[in-house]
Amino acid sequence: MSSFKAILISRDADKNQSVAVTEVKDENLMEGDVTVAVEATTVNYKDGLAITGKSPVVRHWPMIPGVDLAGTVLESGHKDFSAGDSVILNGFGVGETHWGAYAEKARVSGDWLIKRPDGISAKQAMAIGTAGYTAMLCVMALESHDITPDRGPIAVTGANGGVGSVAISILSKLGYDVIAFTGRMNEAEFLKSLGASEVLDRSELSQEGRPLGKERWAGAVDAVGSFTLANILAQTKYGGAVAACGLAQGFDLPTTVMPFILRGVSLLGVDSVMAPLSVRKEAWSRLETDLDMGKLEKLTTEIGFDDLISSAHDIIDGKIRGRVVAVI
Ligand code: NDP
Repeated sequence: MSSFKAILISRDADKNQSVAVTEVKDENLMEGDVTVAVEATTVNYKDGLAITGKSPVVRHWPMIPGVDLAGTVLESGHKDFSAGDSVILNGFGVGETHWGAYAEKARVSGDWLIKRPDGISAKQAMAIGTAGYTAMLCVMALESHDITPDRGPIAVTGANGGVGSVAISILSKLGYDVIAFTGRMNEAEFLKSLGASEVLDRSELSQEGRPLGKERWAGAVDAVGSFTLANILAQTKYGGAVAACGLAQGFDLPTTVMPFILRGVSLLGVDSVMAPLSVRKEAWSRLETDLDMGKLEKLTTEIGFDDLISSAHDIIDGKIRGRVVAVI
């Protein structure tokens, strides 16, 4: 009987969580019409929440975490995929309600998969991962709101994180002026090397501010939420837009209606998890052209399968710069 290596999050009768590397039998794989040999995965903030148990991300026990995978189809009963196809999966509840990517094998619904673009390797796809694909969705949201480079700079919060660092790289390649906000000013040169024209300390945004401030940016990509997002909105130029995708500071939004009703500022919500396939395909195709793969390499750290658990703790502790990729 075949089995495969996996990281398994379990819970005892008292709901105490434990995480271990273990062997899982193929026959226990969850329902799905495509079985994939996982080649690479990554560590997203959500994977950190699942493994540390800091937030109730896991909703089926036991769970193989990992919201992102790149791999090769082993068997398929789905009309769009056959054995040998190179595929990517981001989200759709994988690693939360359905066994995920931190394993040598995954069985999933073919409706959740997309074919990996030719110009992106499995390792690069996971260096991008949900964080990078979400950064692309944020840029697309700003574009759909006509926030073009001539309208002014774009602020990026959580700049050293996965979403932030990829957003800076994409925006600078597209010709935007980027103002990066970070709590790690010692990484200012790194952020400039990705394309930030200015790097500022995030502390200026992290406390309660005024309902409206000086108009500083035409748009923003915000991965942080809370007071940071409120202050970003208050300093967005007339007619500007802010793409909000994260909650690294908090899920609250202590703002007023002033930026919306006096400056016509728009708040654009961005979700990657359940985004329709057409949007995913567009985002991945844009990543192939609009993300400089040299910069992607610069912001990526490669780890082994056995480092995934400690890296999940590191991302929650704010110790990871850019993106992490694990080759299985
Ligand atoms: P990372 O952990 O890689 O980056 C988060 C960054 O936020 C950190 O590196 C840090 O940047 C900054 N940060 C952390 N804590 C605080 C704080 N208290 N106040 C202000 N800034 C802080 O995570 P990701 O980039 O992968 O994800 C970012 C956020 O986006 C997360 O909340 C995640 O859950 C969310 N997300 C949402 C998605 C969606 O579909 N909507 C998809 C992907 C992610 P620095 O050190 O530069 O200050």
